[in-house]
Amino acid sequence: MPRIDVPMTIAGEDVETADRMVVLNPATAEPVGEIGVCDQALLDTAMEAAQSAFAHWSLDLEARRGSLVAIADGIEANLAQIADVLTAEQGKPKRVAMFEVAEVVRWFRAFATMTPTEERVTAEDGARIFVSRRPLGVVAAITPWNFPLLLVGWKAAPALLAGNTMVLKPSPFTPLSTLMVGRVIAAHVPPGVFSVVAGGDQLGAWMTKHPAPRKISFTGSVRTGSAVMRAAADGIKRVTLELGGNDAAIVLDDADPDMVESALFWGAFANTGQICAGIKRLFLPEHRADAILERLVARAERTVMGDGAEPSTQLGPIQNRPQFERVVGLAEDAYRRGGTPITGGHRLDRPGYFYAPTIVTGLDDDAPLVAEEQFGPVLPVLTYRKVDDAVRRANATSYGLSGSVWSSDVSRAAAVAERLQAGTVRVNDHLTFSPHVPFGGWGVSGLGVENGPWGLDEFSDIQVLRLPRQAAST
Ligand code: NAD
Repeated sequence: MPRIDVPMTIAGEDVETADRMVVLNPATAEPVGEIGVCDQALLDTAMEAAQSAFAHWSLDLEARRGSLVAIADGIEANLAQIADVLTAEQGKPKRVAMFEVAEVVRWFRAFATMTPTEERVTAEDGARIFVSRRPLGVVAAITPWNFPLLLVGWKAAPALLAGNTMVLKPSPFTPLSTLMVGRVIAAHVPPGVFSVVAGGDQLGAWMTKHPAPRKISFTGSVRTGSAVMRAAADGIKRVTLELGGNDAAIVLDDADPDMVESALFWGAFANTGQICAGIKRLFLPEHRADAILERLVARAERTVMGDGAEPSTQLGPIQNRPQFERVVGLAEDAYRRGGTPITGGHRLDRPGYFYAPTIVTGLDDDAPLVAEEQFGPVLPVLTYRKVDDAVRRANATSYGLSGSVWSSDVSRAAAVAERLQAGTVRVNDHLTFSPHVPFGGWGVSGLGVENGPWGLDEFSDIQVLRLPRQAAST
């Protein structure tokens, strides 16, 4: 593939800058493309255009629905090319990249059918009260590198439908596919309604401190989420924070190993373990652990890890060098503490950021691989004797994104799942998302929710219209 170079789209125009940043392919650690970097003056241009476009854009819900459908069609028409670029910069297999682009399309189509809520209330004195949702103005959106495009759908579709304008910044590790999708979005809305800017972490900090946005919609790490929240305090900007997780999956003693092993494996290793709400700690009943582990190890060993552009690849590399070093560091620390890699446990002997899918047993709960978010293909497996003990240990974390319970008895599993302290708990599943279902974290995993009418509401403020009591004749 030739070097990819996609311009930013600011105020409806393609923008290139002399200040350049190289984007690497994590499967080779070689450059795959480059971007122009947005400076403060260009950011001002994007924000001012978003502010001036707001008044008109916020007026016509039906026109906005039409734009969302046109955006979905436009992305779908370019699905394969966008997926190629996503694979090249992010590392994920082409098939998975195609799925991710298709999810963006699904999100735009779903939000095109939604309507901001409006309710009528009658006050004690008979006054007629209308409670409506009104758009906020400019939304600044900041995304990470694991699902760069999916999260454009999660943020832009509801924000635009609700009547806001948006300036969006992708991660500096994966900007190219977002710039492509951003161009499509911008082409189907009036100039300034949607701009996509690119640059390093500094650009994100400028966005959060900029006076124009009324809201910051952020997905990324807990550490950056805290910085975003601090910056938002000036100006009382609204925030939605989707942060990290350390999800537990608890397998009950009646679970059929053959029925659960595939979903457990992919719940932990899909996207090479780089999923905020993936399985990060697996709890198995002590006397049934061997049967499940045997199957997970067999699956890990027949799963093909490699360059996402190769059709046989099922797992790509870790997306970037700092994350690769963090994952290797956590794994090696776990082995020094007496943890045993029962499969994997080593880097792949090839260029790029590859670490074999690894399952580690024999760790205490306070080992960093267990207690911290690893965000990579190294899964710690812990055993328990009593379900109460598993629940207590699963909840012994400041994270609270999601969790799952696995059993042949759905009611029994649901009763255990409800005891997990997390925003989403599931039975016999860990990784299903929908534009109609809210998703958000408890504790340090986040603030607010995305998706469904609940997520849509977060892109608005309530306005109360009070009309006097209706006279009998009016
Ligand atoms: P990160 O926090 O390092 O970066 C996320 C984004 O924030 C990037 O675009 C980055 O440039 C920007 N940024 C960095 N410093 C900033 C600052 N001071 N102000 C504003 N923006 C700034 O996260 P990452 O390493 O890209 O992503 C991995 C993390 O994201 C993991 O912790 C993962 O769990 C989390 N994540 C959460 C969800 C969710 O929905 N809860 C989804 C995906 C990823």
